[in-house]
Amino acid sequence: MKVNIMCSNCGKREEIENTVDNAVQIIKSGWDSIGGALYCPKCVEVIKNSRYGDRLAGEKHTFIAIMHWILNARNGEKE
Ligand SMILES: [Zn+2]
Repeated sequence: MKVNIMCSNCGKREEIENTVDNAVQIIKSGWDSIGGALYCPKCVEVIKNSRYGDRLAGEKHTFIAIMHWILNARNGEKE
């Protein structure tokens, strides 16, 4: 099953397989998060250089955010 994750800033979507490996890969490619919101590598660069830079949650939290995203998508599929 594939899941779309979406950048909360620009709306860019990336389709990933819902596996842990892919969640890790997305983070390695530069996605980050603030709260539950995900941001694409391009927007992360902009945020980093803004006054919100220190709000970026980093790898661990972003992994959890992506797993939540995947679980929500799974639940949505059941309905
Ligand atoms: Zn973006």
